[in-house]
Amino acid sequence: MLRLENSPPPVSSEDWCVVFAGRSLVSDPRAAEPCLISRRTVRLMGWEPQREQFLGFWKDQPCYAVQIDRGVEIDPVTYTTGHLMQILGRVDDALFAVAGRASQLLTWRKEHSFCGACATPMEFNAGENAMHCASCDSNVYPRINPAIITLVHRGEEVLLGRGPKFPPGMFSTLAGFVEAGESAEQTLRREVAEEVGVQVSNIEYFGSQSWPFPSQLMLGFFAQYTSGDVVCHDEEIVEAQWFHWSDLPRVPPRQSISGALIADWRERVQSN
Ligand SMILES: [Zn+2]
Repeated sequence: MLRLENSPPPVSSEDWCVVFAGRSLVSDPRAAEPCLISRRTVRLMGWEPQREQFLGFWKDQPCYAVQIDRGVEIDPVTYTTGHLMQILGRVDDALFAVAGRASQLLTWRKEHSFCGACATPMEFNAGENAMHCASCDSNVYPRINPAIITLVHRGEEVLLGRGPKFPPGMFSTLAGFVEAGESAEQTLRREVAEEVGVQVSNIEYFGSQSWPFPSQLMLGFFAQYTSGDVVCHDEEIVEAQWFHWSDLPRVPPRQSISGALIADWRERVQSN
């Protein structure tokens, strides 16, 4: 697991770098840890960092997020470039979290180049891990957006929905962002009612997952159906239906919290 720390040790050619060319992750598919590239290699390749951010220590080795220009030439024989999502489930969860942290912090740095209050260019304050405005003397910290994700169940059945951009035949659990002033449980009841028109109770916390697309924290819950007919009110869900545990459609992989909720629920129902 990544050991978080704000202050980096002196730069070394042994440092690990998670390299993004623009927004594309650069990885070495033949390496044991494909998204970690040594600083020595970054220099050797002539990849000039435009933005760099210390992430912490990976197996006691300092680890950095490094952004290079998206136009930089990258040898396609040695490296693959692509969306961060492509390594989800292909590298272990702890390493995915490192790449996810790198992506989120680089995006945050870019989006806070200027102060939102007075438009002064902001400076990175490494000790605080914050963007600092010298004019207002204010700090802006990396922003995480909480969202709920919930599996609604009714006996041996589960309620799953389809978003408009899902691959054909794919269904998933329901999700939505926590609004200002809401608790996660209030968000859950509101989102389920808005998206599929049903009421739920017995909300049970399952677990959480960092979801760096771009910067969510997914809070996973089970919720028991109480009343209402399934009606899709929302353009976020184009179709929703009940499925028996023995006849599930194509669902997300277990590496995502949605897939983990479904797999866990199915095991529980089967063992009852
Ligand atoms: Zn300011």
